[in-house]
Amino acid sequence: MFDIENVRADFPILGREIYGRRLIYLDNAATTQKPLRVIAKIREVYELYNSNIHRSVSRLAAMCTDEYENARKIVCEFINAKSTHEIVFTSGTTAAINLLAFAFGEKFVNRGDEIVVCESEHHSNIVPWKLMCERKNAVLKVLPFDDSGDLKTELLDTLLTERTRLLCVAQATNVLGTVNPLDEIVRKAHEKGVYVLVDGAQGIQHVKTDVNACDFDFYVFSGHKIYAPTGTGVLYGKEHLLEQLPPWQGGGDMVKNVSFAETSYSDLPFKFEAGTSNYAGAIGLGEALSYLIYIGMDKIHSYEKDLTSYALEKISSIPGITICGTSASKIGIASFFADGIHHADMGEILDKMSIAVRTGRMCAEPTVHHFGLTGLVRASWTFYNTKQEIDSFCEGIEKAKKILTN
Ligand code: PMP
Repeated sequence: MFDIENVRADFPILGREIYGRRLIYLDNAATTQKPLRVIAKIREVYELYNSNIHRSVSRLAAMCTDEYENARKIVCEFINAKSTHEIVFTSGTTAAINLLAFAFGEKFVNRGDEIVVCESEHHSNIVPWKLMCERKNAVLKVLPFDDSGDLKTELLDTLLTERTRLLCVAQATNVLGTVNPLDEIVRKAHEKGVYVLVDGAQGIQHVKTDVNACDFDFYVFSGHKIYAPTGTGVLYGKEHLLEQLPPWQGGGDMVKNVSFAETSYSDLPFKFEAGTSNYAGAIGLGEALSYLIYIGMDKIHSYEKDLTSYALEKISSIPGITICGTSASKIGIASFFADGIHHADMGEILDKMSIAVRTGRMCAEPTVHHFGLTGLVRASWTFYNTKQEIDSFCEGIEKAKKILTN
């Protein structure tokens, strides 16, 4: 059984007080809290075997390298990639997408080619593509969403052309929380010979992820959003595609031989891991995924599903509160506005009640602008949150409304 009290005890920060009250952390889409096992693992690295990986001949370095490569295996199995060659460690989703935007652009994009992004993407899945399109004289096209937050996938039939090289889409969106219909999107893209990048930053922790079964060409995610240390992340790519891409950054560890006349690059995945990587963080990421496997992803998903329907119903029934994003398929996110109240004011009052939420444009200006707004309040929950916390949050909104409209 899923024992919520035991789960919460694994996350020490959840027991702390802010302004003399128990913290209610509802900002999980921004970053997640870390379980003791991950904190202990990082400590273990520095106390027992810290040494630069892949380089030194010492026993210590071999231990550290083994732990790092074991973390890669855990990631590989977690997302069901075919080989560890397909798993590149990065510093996060943003770094992974920038890597891909450079390397994919160099290899596959020519003047006049097209890249499609979705209107509901995070800036990290828009701006790198915009920069690449400017560099390569390519065209950035946008797949819009409807007012419930669902992508208008029927438009793909005309939006994707023989010039389209890549379609970039989130597994789940960070403002509206929509879980995008990736089966349909990938099928439509592949029918036209278009590669697909899936941004899993908000997806991997909430939705079953199988890159192989779903036939994603590229998949990226951030460690810190899946209970792992900050500064970690992954770029997955099909091996035959990663093989064809040029390196992004040059430096140590990504080269086989270097002379001033010629340089040969390391095999996958090291070709894309220049310099000393955040190996302690990556080992922590492996530990976070092992922890989730230990708790049971199926249990996590069903607990979150139940909590999400409870929360969405409760929040949307508060008078004067409107949730943006009402798709039938959502992760635990409610981004809303309150009639006559500025989002920043609402966020500040909630904070004083020890309730942590996010406010503003949430790095997704096109989404917020779609609703004619300048910002929203976003509550985002996960498997260590409870219905009692949602109740306190809703009471907090009611109190904030009274204070701010008086
Ligand atoms: N994509 C999505 C959907 C996100 O929610 C985020 C983080 N808010 C990012 C990309 C960027 O992730 P990071 O800042 O960890 O690189």
